[in-house]
Amino acid sequence: MSDDVDRASKYESMERLNGIALAAKDMSKRSPVSLTHCLECGDPIPEKRREAEPGCELCVECKAWKEKGGAFWP
Ligand SMILES: [Zn+2]
Repeated sequence: MSDDVDRASKYESMERLNGIALAAKDMSKRSPVSLTHCLECGDPIPEKRREAEPGCELCVECKAWKEKGGAFWP
């Protein structure tokens, strides 16, 4: 009897893990839509910049900083 319970909870947790994996997959396949505001500093990103670089998430300053090797997530 306890075997059945173990098996059931095992399947349940597997299902949960698959759900998490699918959710993560969904997040990674974001369409390349530029953000209106910088992810880092929250400054508005000029429309011209958003058009020039589909999927950009940072303002010019933050992008330049990142390209120079600035670490956002140390
Ligand atoms: Zn910024």
